Amino acid sequence: MSLTKKILIALILGVAVGIGLTFAPTDVFSVIDTYALNPVGEIFLNLIMMIVVPIVFVSIVLGTVGLGDPSKLGKIGIQTISFYLITTAIALVIGLGVGLVLKPGEGGTFDIGDASYEEEAAPPIMDTIVQIIPKNPIEAMSTGNMLQIIVFAIFIGVALAVLGKKTSGIRNLFEQANEILIFLVNAIMKTAPYGAFALIASAVGEAGLDALGSMFMYMFAVILALVLHGAITYSIAIKTLGKASPVKFYKSFFPAMSVAFSTSSSSAALPVSMKMAQEKLGVKKSISSFVQPLGATINMDGTAIMQAVATVFIAQVYAEPLGLSQMLMVVLTATLASIGTAGVPGVGLIMLAMVLKQVGLPVDGIALIIGVDRLLDMLRTSLNITGDAACAYIISENEKRKNDLLEEKSA
Ligand code: ASP
Repeated sequence: MSLTKKILIALILGVAVGIGLTFAPTDVFSVIDTYALNPVGEIFLNLIMMIVVPIVFVSIVLGTVGLGDPSKLGKIGIQTISFYLITTAIALVIGLGVGLVLKPGEGGTFDIGDASYEEEAAPPIMDTIVQIIPKNPIEAMSTGNMLQIIVFAIFIGVALAVLGKKTSGIRNLFEQANEILIFLVNAIMKTAPYGAFALIASAVGEAGLDALGSMFMYMFAVILALVLHGAITYSIAIKTLGKASPVKFYKSFFPAMSVAFSTSSSSAALPVSMKMAQEKLGVKKSISSFVQPLGATINMDGTAIMQAVATVFIAQVYAEPLGLSQMLMVVLTATLASIGTAGVPGVGLIMLAMVLKQVGLPVDGIALIIGVDRLLDMLRTSLNITGDAACAYIISENEKRKNDLLEEKSA
């Protein structure tokens, strides 16, 4: 059986067992969770997290060298960042639109009297940008600061490209390290169905179904907006900008989406996401290894959608309708917030506080959605990494076409 099929079965079984567990007595669930689901899930999570930093570092160094000319990096960088910003803004407009049409915050009963949310400090956006150059690259690696690791790797890659033959030994070393990492990803992916099953059953079982009740419309609105963005925005982008097939894209990329779904972490899904893009979609290694790690760190369309729907929802529950200028503010701040959102579970909710504050809505409103956020996090993370892969796919397809044309001309 193919890995994709196995993962699909694991997803369905995970959700089914999770729902089944919501009917079990709490102490029974907690024993099963503590002694079976949690350890299996954690081991899987640790296995993939173990290789994320080395993979990002090694593949970006090689990707930068592979591009050959450092100015090409600049061009791809601009295309990538433009794609990320524009699609995030579109995601926010879709999220706001769906929220305004479905009105998830009107009609239900919401206990705003008791709602209180202890705000966590979100990293100031300017800090993220200024700190992009790592003072201490080893610290960046030990704390998993992706943006800093990316920048350091680009520096090393440019140096290797410029120094050429003189440093061919080190370049070979990186290439061999890459072989080792690819071997490890392949081995770890074999455990994905078991890990995904355990993580999903645990998350669904823990969230429970009673949290759904009045939050059903909110969840439905977020899911609808996620599906619309995935089915329309990316498909149109892949078809028109990349002149490629969205169906092939989704079919090939599914295993990565399912790992993002089960781990709720763009960073954790990164090794698989790059593997699928390179092996199944034929994305050039030099492009995939630069575009996808950057996206896993700064591009979060699914998170942006949740934030847009949540803002509209909270505005409706507190009967403080959003004006046009406030909605524009949501698009602006949530786009910036997505840059600062780390690709780990739950951070999108922390950043939501910033968006709510910008438009003058009560941060306590977050308490209303926190109960169902774990489940939505799974879905939005899948979309987050899909956007990164779509971008890599489009750029790579265009590069390939350009190269073919050049070859035709010179032949
Ligand atoms: N879990 C998301 C990710 O890793 C971030 C978030 O929305 O909380 O992409």
